[in-house]
Amino acid sequence: MRHSWWRYTVVGAAVVAAANAVPAQADPGDPFAGAPGLGDPYYPLDGNGGYDAKHYDVTLGYDPASHVMTGSTRVDAVATQALHTFDLDYSGPRIAKVTVNNLPAWFDRTRDHELVVTPMLPLLPGLPFTVQVEYAGEITGTDGDGWVLSPSGGAFVAGQPHSASSWYPLNDTPLDKATFALHATVPAEWEVMSNGLKISDVVNGANRTVNWEMRQPVVGYLTTIAIDKFDFLAQQRANGTPLLSAFAPDASKQARDNEARLPEFLDFLETLYGPYPFDTAGGIYVDTDLQFSLETQSRPIYAPWTDLNTVVHELTHQWWGDSMSVKQWSDICLNECFASYTADYLWPERMEGKDVDAQYREAVAKYRAEPKFWQIMLQNPGVGNEFTSVYYRGPLFLHALRRTMGDTAFFGAVHDFVDGHRYGNASMPEFRQFMRSRTPTDLTGFFTAWLDRTEPPADEFLYPGSLRS
Ligand SMILES: [Zn+2]
Repeated sequence: MRHSWWRYTVVGAAVVAAANAVPAQADPGDPFAGAPGLGDPYYPLDGNGGYDAKHYDVTLGYDPASHVMTGSTRVDAVATQALHTFDLDYSGPRIAKVTVNNLPAWFDRTRDHELVVTPMLPLLPGLPFTVQVEYAGEITGTDGDGWVLSPSGGAFVAGQPHSASSWYPLNDTPLDKATFALHATVPAEWEVMSNGLKISDVVNGANRTVNWEMRQPVVGYLTTIAIDKFDFLAQQRANGTPLLSAFAPDASKQARDNEARLPEFLDFLETLYGPYPFDTAGGIYVDTDLQFSLETQSRPIYAPWTDLNTVVHELTHQWWGDSMSVKQWSDICLNECFASYTADYLWPERMEGKDVDAQYREAVAKYRAEPKFWQIMLQNPGVGNEFTSVYYRGPLFLHALRRTMGDTAFFGAVHDFVDGHRYGNASMPEFRQFMRSRTPTDLTGFFTAWLDRTEPPADEFLYPGSLRS
């Protein structure tokens, strides 16, 4: 994710108080109820216990004139414990019916996004089961945690960490990735974009039905649907990977020019982080006044202010965030520090010949004496602060780490770390441990100074290696 106002300014950065401390445990008196949340320190009710989601099959109709959505979602999952009741995360319109293994199930909606499902027959540990949920209703536009309405009358879904539950029920946590298929029907004059491969696009009478498949596992907030009167750019990488990008009616010429360079961006990122993880790529350029662009899997959503730097940022997330995802939201530096460092330092250095040591020294000289610049920790920035210091301090941290370890050790280690967690999850403590294992230099003090403190690092950590003047 990158916000339009991401560049550091001395406004905002309000430290939000601790999360709504709702206990995530299931009723301790009921060992056969799945937990309503997984206890993320920031979002304890995100995700659910007792099962492992394997695949989502979402059938969705949308009528731009009335804003009415009709949905039917099948969740294929495996029980990890005996369950007589379990939760899904869902915040969309009214539910008409829920079945489990084709038998009617009771359901209840509680708190912000809990859909409590009680099957007719209990579920046994280790066995697969399917949940089918039917729902319909008018959608309302949000500011970026679900549906966003476009000026053309179209709509799309975007938001991090929460957005998916606005259009289908799921286990909404980075810890439970699943494959994803979408079958979307809209009036024939509209188009539908989503993640992964477009399998078919058929007009039948007054309607168009488009089938999409994301064959690599995906986290909920990285799925999207976008409905608009798009025009398309189809390209191909040298290795044959198909690329499909879409532009809303008022998308800019700059958007089209940048997207035409997609093969070049992916080639560049592969040299740093290993093979591109998905079987297709592209971009969805909306023309709505959206305050952020988002790394939706294989096909980011780009706001109108998106520049080349933002495209490189969101594409870096395909490795750092999408293929390898956080374990908890306190690990957000893994996503944003790398996306920002790659776009702000590595691309300008490698592709534009920029002196990035000078860029680093300039930034440190400017902000060193400014307490606000350092007040939010990079690791564990706190709920509500996930998208702050990771953008402006994150690149400095990684540049200093690179100069501490040397290029060979640094680039070898970051490549192996992200490639080793392909399609999985990783945490900041694991990253620290891994980097320490890849250099004879003791990084203990360096990591503490850069990641765990709310003041500028001491000179030895601020000006390592060639940064020493
Ligand atoms: Zn980002």
